[in-house]
Amino acid sequence: MVKAVVGANWGDEGKGKITDMLAQQADVIVRFQGGANAGHTIVNDYGKFALHTLPSGVFYGHTTSVIGNGVALNIPVLFEEIQSLVDRKVPRPKILVSDRAQMVMPYHILLDQYEEERLAGRSFGSTKSGIAPFYSDKYAKIGFQVSELFDEETLKEKVERVCEQKNVMLEHMYHKPLIDPAQLMETLREYKKMIEPYVCDVSAFLEQALREGKTILLEGQLGTLKDPDHGIYPMVTSSSTLAAYGAIGAGIPPYEIKEIITVCKAYSSAVGAGAFVSELFGDEADELRRRGGDGGEFGATTGRPRRMGWFDCVASRYGCRLQGTTDVAFTVLDVLGYLDEIPVCVGYEIDGEVTKEFPVTWKLNRAKPVLKKLPGWKCNIRGIRKYEDLPENCRKYVEFIEEQIGYPITMVSNGPGRRDIIYRESLLKK
Ligand code: GDP
Repeated sequence: MVKAVVGANWGDEGKGKITDMLAQQADVIVRFQGGANAGHTIVNDYGKFALHTLPSGVFYGHTTSVIGNGVALNIPVLFEEIQSLVDRKVPRPKILVSDRAQMVMPYHILLDQYEEERLAGRSFGSTKSGIAPFYSDKYAKIGFQVSELFDEETLKEKVERVCEQKNVMLEHMYHKPLIDPAQLMETLREYKKMIEPYVCDVSAFLEQALREGKTILLEGQLGTLKDPDHGIYPMVTSSSTLAAYGAIGAGIPPYEIKEIITVCKAYSSAVGAGAFVSELFGDEADELRRRGGDGGEFGATTGRPRRMGWFDCVASRYGCRLQGTTDVAFTVLDVLGYLDEIPVCVGYEIDGEVTKEFPVTWKLNRAKPVLKKLPGWKCNIRGIRKYEDLPENCRKYVEFIEEQIGYPITMVSNGPGRRDIIYRESLLKK
């Protein structure tokens, strides 16, 4: 059976922690989209780790970690990551990389930086890890699959052809140094050596795993609102963040995905530019940022301070709907224990009208939040393991949000660790 763990919002919802927790009962964990541009933070018995490419199941001896064909694979970054785990005494994980995954090339990273420089103040807030140029090339059919490393002659021809095109851009548009195809071939030979032990036909491997009754987890990166089709286009990422894409980015039949666990944070945060209706500023934002997550809301990959806001029911309901949510995992609830009252965004006011439907981008940019204040619980809820033991106002907060979003909250996370989880029966769960 296949379960997907995906985000309802702008990313950083705590998917890493939920995947790490669910991986205990899984056999295979697959990354199916995105690249090393975002990260998951995981706290477990080995310490605190920031993962960028590896799935969050790498800490268990019994799991196989898979990089699916939908991922933007940065081979040196993957290698550093494996090494950093081994250096900290994590047993060497079992890793498989799809022969159909495409590689982030050194020039993708450079082009990403050059484009951000060119756009200056009008930039998209890219993490400059080459993701947008990578996916552009994939769909322009000038990308490189891992499998191509193993056919040197064809590879050489293609490298020369692609370099010709990239060099025109580098010279005339960006006025930057050109790529030397011979040197690039050398780099690719290195990549081949690094990746060879891990390469396999991932979809065949997963088919076999399904036949054997294994449990497969699909781990999403970012969240619905960063999806290129359904998110806040163009302030989105370049690959689909939806559970449905898990079927494509891993190479499995869509009907095998039986559970879709959508992770929602108890307040909002976002990185990069783009509409963020319930955004907070000034001291209120600073305080939530400082108290948020596990040691503050700063990007796992970039260290950038995250933008902060109140929980957004409009965005989250939409986010859960597009994922096809069967269960909501509601995270970082413990962080809100300091507030007397907790505002929640229950509607958007656009040109004088209030709506609960998440609109297209130009309307979203005009939306103002309609806030409702709920009473706080003013205590620390870490360590609580039973839903009934949570303070009444805290349960009311969870239940109010469940009613607003319309999807069952079956897990409540009250701390960053694996065991900081409360399972809950929801009336919405059929
Ligand atoms: P992801 O990309 O969705 O995996 O999210 P990140 O790892 O970027 O951000 C989530 C942050 O919140 C990490 O620092 C986690 O350790 C932390 N975290 C996850 N769940 C909880 C929780 O329930 N409470 C607290 N306090 N922190 C949490």
